[in-house]
Amino acid sequence: MHPDHPLHTIRAAIAAATPPGAPPVRLLAVSKTQRADAVRALATLGQRAFGENYVQEGVAKIRTLADLALEWHLIGPLQSNKCREVAEHFDWIESLDRAKLIEPLARFRPPHRPPLAVLVQVKIDDEPTKAGVAPDAAAELCRLVAAQPRLALRGLMAIPAPHPDPALRRGAFARLRGLYERLRAAFPQMDTLSMGMSDDYALAIAEGATEVRIGTALFGPRTAR
Ligand SMILES: *Cc1c(COP(=O)(O)O)cnc(C)c1O
Repeated sequence: MHPDHPLHTIRAAIAAATPPGAPPVRLLAVSKTQRADAVRALATLGQRAFGENYVQEGVAKIRTLADLALEWHLIGPLQSNKCREVAEHFDWIESLDRAKLIEPLARFRPPHRPPLAVLVQVKIDDEPTKAGVAPDAAAELCRLVAAQPRLALRGLMAIPAPHPDPALRRGAFARLRGLYERLRAAFPQMDTLSMGMSDDYALAIAEGATEVRIGTALFGPRTAR
């Protein structure tokens, strides 16, 4: 890998931000609006996990790149009429935010594939428009996911409000970490706390992220969709 490639720089920054003794942090390359060629180029450099926001666009790339052994995460909002496509094509859904989606995702998960990995998306700031379940409702959603053999509860995801003040962002990451630790006492199978993006991933790792979702810092600016 060319030492100046952003993938190299970001991996080094992730390693530097990871506290000593903590498990390695997963880098999820957010490839929404990026061409399949750009994903292939990154895969050639060793990147394996990719995140997509839109089901249709994601499934098209999954099909185009089926010759590569990649791991695909849905990180955008999910409508119930898309559950089948998600269960059939993706490896993870990180944006589960309501009970209604659970049964169809489980029912449509093909028997020959491992259980679909699930993160419950939590609304960690009080923003009326943001997706995610309220923190005090997360435990119930986790319980419903954990009851489904065709789903694997793996943890939590959140997109904190883009506070210009890093201290406020750090506070949101810390609150999410606290919720994650409390839920993990009840659901020890949880191993993933997905928080932090291009602008704040080092801060998120310092607060306990086990996965960061990075788009623009890796691929450059997104093209309009
Ligand atoms: C687009 C997106 C990202 C990546 O954002 P960047 O700022 O480009 O790193 C991460 N998570 C979610 C849910 C996104 O929609």
